[in-house]
Amino acid sequence: MLIKSRTDAKSSSRRYIYAQNGHILAHEQAHWLHAQASPLPLVAWLKQPLFVAEWAGEDIYLQIIADHVATPFEQYHGRAMMALLSGSENDLLGRALQLSHWLRDHQYCGRCGQAAKLHNADYGMHCHACQHTQYPRLSPSIIVVVTGPEGILLAHNRRFPSGRFSALAGFVEAGESVEAAVHREVREEVGIAIKNLQYTGSQSWSFPHSLMLGFLAEYKSGEICVDQVEIDKAAWFTPDSLPDLPARFSIARQLVDMGLAKCHMA
Ligand SMILES: [Zn+2]
Repeated sequence: MLIKSRTDAKSSSRRYIYAQNGHILAHEQAHWLHAQASPLPLVAWLKQPLFVAEWAGEDIYLQIIADHVATPFEQYHGRAMMALLSGSENDLLGRALQLSHWLRDHQYCGRCGQAAKLHNADYGMHCHACQHTQYPRLSPSIIVVVTGPEGILLAHNRRFPSGRFSALAGFVEAGESVEAAVHREVREEVGIAIKNLQYTGSQSWSFPHSLMLGFLAEYKSGEICVDQVEIDKAAWFTPDSLPDLPARFSIARQLVDMGLAKCHMA
């Protein structure tokens, strides 16, 4: 997937993603990229197809069909579809979903409440009454695997299936540095202190608009004491004692694998 300026989109070689009511429209789940622009009525706040990205040599556009229009398509949940896709297809659908959700939630100016309009050249929703412009929101989040003498520290979130353990994660707070957020989340969720943070990479996560920043960290001090709010269990795991882990494409799983490799070398 190549993200480029809306004004650099080519006029030929286009494909279209149709969305409606926060869902993706397709005849079958695997065929969600359409060759033609939809003739169906679009939502009032996005009257023209919106350029999403270049993908496989073609420019991909998003059209949001008006809410109550009957269509010949099935509605598919984007998150379920993404679980079946891989690599750049996943990135493309994630970006389209994130843009469509954001636009839907910003039809009106957040400052004065008048109807907002998409900017001609970028992704801002602009209010002509008060000149305020809002841009698609990203929410930085940290995700971290802690390594220690007893293995890697993983936790079970109350929302996870039983038996699933993963990296610790949480949103960066307003006014907080990313590094401080890593220390705070680990302290809050499992009660331990960490040291030697190492940034490993990032992953966009479109539900709803997270940018996951991955870290490895080393155990410094303290005993595991879970918060019992988000996290109800946490433990140290070795390669021989692994629980059910998150999906391979996730940054959480990549961190688990990196953490285990680090333990192995130590
Ligand atoms: Zn306004």
